[in-house]
Amino acid sequence: MTQAVTTATALVSVLAEHAAKADAEGVFPHESVQALREAGLFGLLVPTEYGGMGGDLGDLVEVAALLAGGCLSTAMIWAMHCQQTDVVVRHAGERLRTELLPRIAEEGYYLASVTTEPAKGGHLLSASSAIEADETELLVRRSAPVVTGGEHADGFLVTMRAAPDAPPNQVSLIHLHRGQADTRVVRDWNAMGMRATRSVGMELDGATAPHQVVGTPGEFRRVAMDSMIPAGHLAWSACWLGAARDALDALVALSRSRQRPGGLDTRSELVRHRLGRARVDLELASAYLLRARDEVLLRRRTGASMDVRALHMQLDTLKVACSELTFSAVDRLVQLGGTMTGYQRDAAVPLERHFRDLRSASLNYSNDRLLGAIGTLTLLDGAGQLF
Ligand SMILES: Cc1cc2nc3c(=O)[nH]c(=O)nc-3n(C[C@H](O)[C@H](O)[C@H](O)COP(=O)(O)OP(=O)(O)OC[C@H]3O[C@@H](n4cnc5c(N)ncnc54)[C@H](O)[C@@H]3O)c2cc1C
Repeated sequence: MTQAVTTATALVSVLAEHAAKADAEGVFPHESVQALREAGLFGLLVPTEYGGMGGDLGDLVEVAALLAGGCLSTAMIWAMHCQQTDVVVRHAGERLRTELLPRIAEEGYYLASVTTEPAKGGHLLSASSAIEADETELLVRRSAPVVTGGEHADGFLVTMRAAPDAPPNQVSLIHLHRGQADTRVVRDWNAMGMRATRSVGMELDGATAPHQVVGTPGEFRRVAMDSMIPAGHLAWSACWLGAARDALDALVALSRSRQRPGGLDTRSELVRHRLGRARVDLELASAYLLRARDEVLLRRRTGASMDVRALHMQLDTLKVACSELTFSAVDRLVQLGGTMTGYQRDAAVPLERHFRDLRSASLNYSNDRLLGAIGTLTLLDGAGQLF
């Protein structure tokens, strides 16, 4: 077991302790996030030479799943920060790496993500607002309708059109310190689930230095293919799986306990059938997650390109499949738990919270968009190399 996994295992109970209240009140889980910071987990992916834990995406997957068993909102806040960190590690210039990475590792500097935009919605690889340059600075004026942890982040990675005369697909990724910008919250987050992520709407208005562009200006697509998409889809899927795994374990533990409700009679064929169905969902999600993880780790180890059709399809399939299968599993557990155990906010097992939280999985980068992309590639090579 790695140090990061040992640390995360010890923190699951802290996250679980604060999860219900943060969800009920729709507040940012400060205590849980602070515990992750103090344990050094904000620097999981920061290389050791910058003071971090030097973990890889395999560690990210394992830790994300563990943390999500305590609180899915907190795990997502952390996982998305790690996704941004991976982007900085792999694509920022040395000056920005030296400024940011030690702060992430030592202070738990929190990086939020700004890719969604009002005019173009969720589409990752395009942007409408443009960066404007004056003599020494780059001006960042951006509407950001959904920013997880936006009120509390120390900095943002923002996608924008590379210049006022650039087309929508010529996108730059730019880092903005909170102190460099006027950051206004313009929309609250009063959502069905993932309530503690506080994914508020913001207006950002600031100025950054040219070295704060991450990757080659106008070539965000390369950053997305190499880092943001693989790290994101692996980390989100691990979070969803971790939450659903916890729901299944908790319901099984309840069914074996003295507090077992009458409907959860383990001698019943129907109860076993429903448990079996939920387990099959999670077996499939887990197998596909591990397959995609191994493929990404192998490509990173060998320096193979991440920008290949088969991998795009695999990573998009991972996100679609894990979001659907984990939600399906928890939906089945709600049915199994019934009106009192499955459907009540104050039930012994937080199935109702997991259900609301996991409903976001197909929306958090819309499955409709990903299925469209998978379908387009399928038109090119049919079943491809499928076994
Ligand atoms: C919990 C949570 C946290 C999030 N955190 C962040 C964050 O930190 N930063 C950030 O930038 N964003 C964040 N998002 C935003 C999210 O990832 C989406 O990008 C955002 O909701 C907008 O999605 P959308 O434009 O696809 O459509 P939505 O507004 O979700 O829905 C519009 C509908 O139109 C469909 N649609 C529109 N255009 C197309 C198309 N071209 N092809 C197929 N279908 C289409 C969608 O599928 C959907 O049915 C978060 C979302 C959630 C749920």
